[in-house]
Amino acid sequence: MPPHILLTIDVEDWFQVENFKPWIDHSTWGSQQLRVEQNVHTLLDLFDSVNLENSTGHQSIRATFFVLGWIAERLPHLVKTIHERGHEVASHGYHHHLCSNLSDEALRKDLTDSKTLLEDLIGEQITGYRAPSFAIDDRILDVVKQCGYRYDSSYNSFDRHERYGRIDLSGKQNIGVACKLSETFYELPVSNFKVGNQILPWGGGGYFRLIPLFLMKAGVRSILSRDKAFLFYTHPWEFDPEQPRVINASGYKKFRHYVNLKNTYSKLRSFIDAFKHCQLITLRDYLIEHALTLENGEWNKTI
Ligand SMILES: [Zn+2]
Repeated sequence: MPPHILLTIDVEDWFQVENFKPWIDHSTWGSQQLRVEQNVHTLLDLFDSVNLENSTGHQSIRATFFVLGWIAERLPHLVKTIHERGHEVASHGYHHHLCSNLSDEALRKDLTDSKTLLEDLIGEQITGYRAPSFAIDDRILDVVKQCGYRYDSSYNSFDRHERYGRIDLSGKQNIGVACKLSETFYELPVSNFKVGNQILPWGGGGYFRLIPLFLMKAGVRSILSRDKAFLFYTHPWEFDPEQPRVINASGYKKFRHYVNLKNTYSKLRSFIDAFKHCQLITLRDYLIEHALTLENGEWNKTI
């Protein structure tokens, strides 16, 4: 079987990123220029323009879109479009608060409100969740599970980023790149590149914009030969070089947000072209393909 490339998109707008929080207050979001819709369409059109060349007969790209509730409330038709065009709709929470700053009760509300809203829009169960800024820990993971999600994709093993959280996956069973946390709940970590004991951030975002494409591809080939899957993440605003600039932000934060935005589209296009022989499917389908079926929101083993 060809290996898997698992594309995931965190659907949020340029003014909602953690990086710019000190300069853009949540209370001003309603008056900011919404650009996420056109950028999601750019991605949907890019995905539709590629014919995969693998032996499975699945020739179209299917990705997982983790949609922020705040965006879904304002652009319900965009959520329906993502779903109708064959992709998975999952949740990125409601308000993009860092989960580690929320009490269990507040976190439960954020997770449940976004799940319910997205389910009402597409008429299907939402099974996946990604925490803002990969800020996950064992407490948060427990609440995610209690809220009825069936998988989480918030763990990033790169340990030099100040906001990424830690969870303990030791002793847990791996099924492909998924880690089984209970009979009905899985973790799907973002992919990274290991050199000896070092973990290099290779899964997407700003690192994808920074790392030269030839090196990125070589790293992904190495990851695929070991894991048979590569889990990639990006954001619609990374495809929008014309987005408004947050002039007051610090130089470092601006560098992280704006570096190489002009090239993200062509780079992702070339990247996908290089891995057309792979299976590009949703996280939910990846779990289902790996010996699980989803019935009434529960994962059940079929073999
Ligand atoms: Zn986010």
